Amino acid sequence: MSVRSHDNFLIFGSPKIEEDEIREVEAVMRSGWLGTGPRVTRFEKAFAQYRGAPHAVALNSCSAALHLSLLASGVGPGDEVITTPLTFCATANAIIHAGATPVLADIDPLTSNIDPEQVRAKLTPRTRAIVPVHFAGRPCDMDSLMAIARDQNLKVIEDCAHAIEAEHRGRSVGTIGDFGCFSFYVTKNVITGEGGMVLARNEEDASTIKVLGLHGMTKDAWKRFGDEGFKHYHVVAAGFKYNMMDLQAAIGLKQLEKVETYWLRRKSIWDRYMNELADLPIGLPASPESDTRHAHHLFTVEIDEARCGIARDAFLDAMTAQGIGIGVHYLSLTEHPYYQEAFGWRPEDMPHATRVGRQTVSLPISAKLTDQDVSDVISAVRLVLP
Ligand SMILES: *Cc1c(COP(=O)(O)O)cnc(C)c1O
Repeated sequence: MSVRSHDNFLIFGSPKIEEDEIREVEAVMRSGWLGTGPRVTRFEKAFAQYRGAPHAVALNSCSAALHLSLLASGVGPGDEVITTPLTFCATANAIIHAGATPVLADIDPLTSNIDPEQVRAKLTPRTRAIVPVHFAGRPCDMDSLMAIARDQNLKVIEDCAHAIEAEHRGRSVGTIGDFGCFSFYVTKNVITGEGGMVLARNEEDASTIKVLGLHGMTKDAWKRFGDEGFKHYHVVAAGFKYNMMDLQAAIGLKQLEKVETYWLRRKSIWDRYMNELADLPIGLPASPESDTRHAHHLFTVEIDEARCGIARDAFLDAMTAQGIGIGVHYLSLTEHPYYQEAFGWRPEDMPHATRVGRQTVSLPISAKLTDQDVSDVISAVRLVLP
């Protein structure tokens, strides 16, 4: 007998979708305006206000947000951009698509965030930018990273895909560097299905991103086909098709109203895991740093085979067999064949990220989980450990 039956499998990262989102999507469908329009503008305003940022541009993914932020930073061929090996591949791919070379700086083993000392060690005359990732929702050491950026005249593009609610010394993450990039992918803290957002410090950068995100055209379609008379558009750059739809913004607007409620729910799940798994030989996440706010996006535990008596991959299989969907965030980027071939990266070059990547398991922590779901996860972990 497994903790949960096959029919009742707990899907990892499944989002909470409620009646208000369904009604808002229906309203968009009935309005006939599905594409980029008034709801996207409202979502940008609401998101900028929530984060206390002067400018927000909605896009169709965080990958697009990272790509355009790098381009707006002037990053291009011949440049190096320093990032963390413990991230989703999109972070490194965006650097490559901007024409630059990604350079890895290993993580701090306690926080799993990029280690500023390692960043310093990787600086060269070609370094143009740093892309820190607030891993699992824990803010990076932004004071040290911004000091390096100031010293070396670098741009900072924060990957906030895990960290919508996070704060560092009273400031929202994503507003500390030059750009903050957010994801509304289905497993993230606020969802639109697919979707992303850039926060920019100044209007010029925001407008560059807006133009690049819609083919390089100077007027968006909503304004062109409004009732103010026909307006020609002009193409001022070879842009991209990265715009968000009103259909997506409709979901985002309703989700954003609940962002704090969902955060509180995830925090209470986090606290239960911390308390109820404390006696086990698994590694638990470090406590949030004082004067910061953790977004509690991922709850990652470490399965060290020597201590736990079970290998990480066997633990993954056993949890799945118990009806619990788990995740791995992430194998170090140095484990993937593409990067090994393109840049000569080797796992042993990033010892901390490699160890974490080989031992880490993410337990479910979505706001959708019931108390019973959380109890089932805890029971399954206890059952699976020998
Ligand atoms: C999800 C994620 C992304 C990519 O987000 P998309 O919206 O799916 O493009 C980038 N970086 C990190 C750290 C992520 O977790």
